[in-house]
Amino acid sequence: MIIAPHHTETAPDQPLELLRTMLEEQFVLQTRRLTELTIYGRLPGHAGYDPNTLDILTTSARQAIADTAQALRRMTEGTYGRCEQCQRPIPLGRLREVPHARYCTRCHRHRGS
Ligand SMILES: [Zn+2]
Repeated sequence: MIIAPHHTETAPDQPLELLRTMLEEQFVLQTRRLTELTIYGRLPGHAGYDPNTLDILTTSARQAIADTAQALRRMTEGTYGRCEQCQRPIPLGRLREVPHARYCTRCHRHRGS
């Protein structure tokens, strides 16, 4: 019995479109979150939030917005999915987990961030 060779053919544009959708959703979500957090910060008693917690949440939302915006710009420029450090393609599995990833798994580990 002959086992057919395993083909790894996939539609090349589809994963990217999926990732773009993920990034766009994330952008909208985080922008909404940042708006909410900004409002909470202005409310008396910070809507029950601890000011430190509110600060951390605000910073992380801002960071997420910046990350996703940059990733979407890289998609437009055509540099998306390429490691900024070693210029190698970032594995799709990593992009699915972290759609805004700028570095491949290896370089990311080396950078320690
Ligand atoms: Zn790399």
